[in-house]
Amino acid sequence: MLGALVATTIVVTVALCWAGWRLLDQQHAIDDQRAREQLESSADAIAAGIQGKVADAGERLSGWLSNPASLPPTIDGAVVLTIGPGEVLVAPPDGLPFVPVAGSPSPPADVFSAIEAMEFGANQLASAAERYRILSRHRDVQVRASALLRLGRVLRKSRDFAAARAAYQELSALGAVGTDDLPAELLGLDGQRAALVALGDHEGERRIAAQLLRGLDSGRWRITRGTAEFYRDEVSATSRPDSWRLADALSDVWGERDGGSLPTRGQRVFTGDDRSVLVFWRSNGNRCALLAAFAQSFFTSPASGAVAWQLSDPQGQVIRGDLAPPASSVARIVGSSGSEYPWTLHVWAASQSAASARSSRTILLAMMAAMLLFVWGAAYFMARAIRREAEVAGLQSDFVAAVSHEFRTPLTTIRQMAEMLEMDRLPTEERRRTYYRVLIGEAARLQRLVETLLNFGRMDAGAERYQFVEVDVWALVREVVGEIEPQARDAGKRIEVGSPDPGLAVRADASALALALRNLIDNAIKYSLADSTVSVHCRSENGRAAISVADRGVGIPPSEQQAIFRKFVRGRRAIDAHIKGTGVGLAMVQQIVLAHGGEIRLDSETGKGSTFTILLPAVGREEAVSSRSAVSVDG
Ligand code: ADP
Repeated sequence: MLGALVATTIVVTVALCWAGWRLLDQQHAIDDQRAREQLESSADAIAAGIQGKVADAGERLSGWLSNPASLPPTIDGAVVLTIGPGEVLVAPPDGLPFVPVAGSPSPPADVFSAIEAMEFGANQLASAAERYRILSRHRDVQVRASALLRLGRVLRKSRDFAAARAAYQELSALGAVGTDDLPAELLGLDGQRAALVALGDHEGERRIAAQLLRGLDSGRWRITRGTAEFYRDEVSATSRPDSWRLADALSDVWGERDGGSLPTRGQRVFTGDDRSVLVFWRSNGNRCALLAAFAQSFFTSPASGAVAWQLSDPQGQVIRGDLAPPASSVARIVGSSGSEYPWTLHVWAASQSAASARSSRTILLAMMAAMLLFVWGAAYFMARAIRREAEVAGLQSDFVAAVSHEFRTPLTTIRQMAEMLEMDRLPTEERRRTYYRVLIGEAARLQRLVETLLNFGRMDAGAERYQFVEVDVWALVREVVGEIEPQARDAGKRIEVGSPDPGLAVRADASALALALRNLIDNAIKYSLADSTVSVHCRSENGRAAISVADRGVGIPPSEQQAIFRKFVRGRRAIDAHIKGTGVGLAMVQQIVLAHGGEIRLDSETGKGSTFTILLPAVGREEAVSSRSAVSVDG
């Protein structure tokens, strides 16, 4: 039975493990599939986002070029530069710190030729200054600006730095007006700076230098890269604004065009330390529109952060993302192959999705472990139940053997003695009497045995009906002891009784309680040494009646103290010492005590003896007295 259970459990375990393994395998495949689908859709979304933004920018660029009457397009994060004959347009207007070609109109050169001859040829600085001053109030703003620039120069030469500074101040106030190809403001600020240096006003010089740098970075002057670089160096500025990189890229592309190598439309990627710059251009006859933007402007961030991606151009230049894509990455071509940018997009799973797959696998494994635990737990409890059943069966067969033995011995004695008597083989009357006494004793023993078994059978089946009446405990003890005393004497034992509380009463079935007490005293006699005394006591203990039976016998080891109250269970020492018994006595005592709402207590020490105590709820003294008086009244 147990073997079959173990085999079944092993088979179930193996089946579960196999199913679990298959499930894990499937889960793995599903996870992979799901991750792949997620990657595919992320790749599509990223590619579509980029393609849409790029296509939109390209279309608006072409639209602007074919319709010059419209406003230049403003595209988020991008700068559009349009270069045509005599035209340099930047959208947004302050988007670039410098442009590939300045396009500022030159001042009318001949206005100043006579004065310049005076300044340089004759070195008549004061007269030249006077003339320039007159022209600095000219109605043409360009003439005014050029005159102020020259006035500042002459005054510096004459070492009148304060006046020179005033002239430059006036010049810088003219703003973006072109003066000798450069904006008046830039020249004015630079002149002021030089005058302040000469005047030794370092504080003022620093202030003007900062103003000059702000002007350079703001993109409000149409100057070329060389000019921008020159004036930046002048004020020794090192860090450049972001827009500088866009302007650099545009100038590079324009430079290529000058060399005649640029097609009418195209795109170029400039990879930088941190962010790539993209330049698109469209040209139409003598006009060309260029768009420069950081690559980021064309990216829409993917819906989930669980993917990593890289974008590279046809030359293999990485536009975005510096990690090399793994073999498992999903690739997409962004833009049609005919367009100027068939960029390659690689998308792959970042670590988080692997973590989520791992967590679902962990849940599955935990569930498997729980199921295995459940199977093994169930198998354990079943095995325990089977073992108990087998134990009970063993106990039952021991019981049958013991009962048979208990019957056989007195029956054999009775038969032998009856035969002797029948054959008249006994010589003396005294011997015959002894035989009769033994016969009576053996018959009584048989009767007690039969009664015990019948009582046990009734109680075990729950068929016992108790008649509860008030019982005087002390009287009951004396009665039972009186019955047993001859048997104890025969066994060479004495019974000592004592009651510190003689009026003690309980509600009980007198014959059942007597049976329980008789069993305990029987055991005490059976399991104690020859010539020893068994003590029976009754007393009141915390509102309960305590009847104790103590012996100085073999004792009961702690490991058996609970088990001996189960039916058919006999102690090891009792079996080894061949002391007769059936193993039902204590079970019966416990049943009776429990039916009376009491409990049974055992104190025992191996080799020293045992004390069994029956504890029953005591009936109150007054109650006992009144019930007795009620009886007497009745009587
Ligand atoms: P039985 O005495 O017929 O074997 P019981 O149910 O009366 O059955 O007792 C069960 C077991 O408890 C005994 O076999 C014995 O080992 C142990 N036992 C009972 N009473 C005593 C006692 N007074 N001293 C030592 N062992 C005892």
